[in-house]
Amino acid sequence: MYKNHSEKVQKIISGILDLKEHTKDLLSSIEKNSDLNAFNSISKDVVEKAASVAEKIKSGKHGKLAGMTVAVKDVISVKNEPLTCSSEILKNFKPLYDATVVEKLLEEDAIIIGKTNCDEFAMGSSNENSAFGPVLNPVNKNRVPGGSSGGSAVAVAAGLCDASLGTDTGGSIRQPAAFVGIYGLKPTYGLVSRFGLTAYASSFDSIGPFANNLDDLSAILEVISGEDKKDSTSSGKKFTRESLENLDASKLKIGYPKEFFGKGIQSEVKENFLKVIQKLKSAGIEISEVSLPHNEYSIAAYYILTTAEASSNLARYDGVRYGVRDLNSTELKEMYEQTRSIGFGKEVKRRIMLGTYVLSSGYYDAYYKKAQKVRRLIKNDFDNVFDNFDLILSPTTPTTAFKLGEKTNDPLQMYLADVYTTSANLAGIPGLNIPIGFDNDNLPIGMQLMSNQFCEDKIISFAKILENEMNLS
Ligand code: GLN
Repeated sequence: MYKNHSEKVQKIISGILDLKEHTKDLLSSIEKNSDLNAFNSISKDVVEKAASVAEKIKSGKHGKLAGMTVAVKDVISVKNEPLTCSSEILKNFKPLYDATVVEKLLEEDAIIIGKTNCDEFAMGSSNENSAFGPVLNPVNKNRVPGGSSGGSAVAVAAGLCDASLGTDTGGSIRQPAAFVGIYGLKPTYGLVSRFGLTAYASSFDSIGPFANNLDDLSAILEVISGEDKKDSTSSGKKFTRESLENLDASKLKIGYPKEFFGKGIQSEVKENFLKVIQKLKSAGIEISEVSLPHNEYSIAAYYILTTAEASSNLARYDGVRYGVRDLNSTELKEMYEQTRSIGFGKEVKRRIMLGTYVLSSGYYDAYYKKAQKVRRLIKNDFDNVFDNFDLILSPTTPTTAFKLGEKTNDPLQMYLADVYTTSANLAGIPGLNIPIGFDNDNLPIGMQLMSNQFCEDKIISFAKILENEMNLS
């Protein structure tokens, strides 16, 4: 119907596309595809909003994202809409303010279509940990869509909106983007404000866009990035599309880490990846093997540090201030215990317990402090590579989308789905998933491009070469 947002706007202006009717069609399409379970809720008055944005577009005075339908992961605050984090404990909670990212989208006349299903409190790799049931992969409904931002990825892949926001603490944008075959970017930590994002692991969490083309993805990044006084970790830096124009991406030096091809990688993922490397070489791109020697410790460090942060962040859900409260208890401590026992799902409880354990006196030095040191070593590995290279290319995930239920009884196997993604969060650097082809079961394969902090311009302009000239998938 249209290949990107600029074309959509053109079609609205020339009268070929009626935004109001088109948005109505989208809502019925969401309804028809309710078996995918991608949405937790639909925003109020979406059609009315579409009609008023259409007027703005016709008047010639409108924002950069006018008429773009954007779905928002249900861990990000949209004023007066449910914010459940896909958890029983926040089932009826409605926030009183917009997250900064949402405020920025609205300022540019985007249409927030609804809140998307996800793993509870963004903890998971398959979107099977949601209190509202699993999300299905539209490519093959017996497969998971990846997690934790599964609903956001599926909403875009199934054509239920133009783009969406997800969050990535250890891979939750890149991995589902890979599993459903679209673009998904985890920005540099501090580039996009976290104000209004429900914290899972505050020193890892980032908000980023999903889209089916790079133009829309970079348009959203331009809007949501930049300084925010309400987030003390906001860097003050901003991504601009203009920066892409000054870059000759064909001159960038690319490395691919030799440690990423050991055991556990599906042969078709490896073959497709090596094919891309070959194509790049033949196109004259400078590309060679690099080393990230501490990557093998990234999953361990990630799960120690993030569970520690989660155990602290989730202490606030005690039935006193937010969401659900157990009304049968007769005294305070019992009420806390009952509320948390009933309100949190299995994986969230597991992580609170793990986090409490690694922070407890006697174990703090052995686990938490040691993991902090490993985090530094992982960051140093990246710094060493980026001294000589502009970008790192790797598979996004070791396998394509696995079957629903396949890993639910084995948390360790589930955690290993993040073996290529967690290190970017440990180091605070950006990563983009690019769809590069399909395996023998026709499931999408993704490739990840990483750069040094705040070099999203290099990632996106190089990805554009791949999108336009390499004919990957
Ligand atoms: N899958 C990882 C986890 O379970 C990452 C989650 C995320 O990035 N939010 O923690």
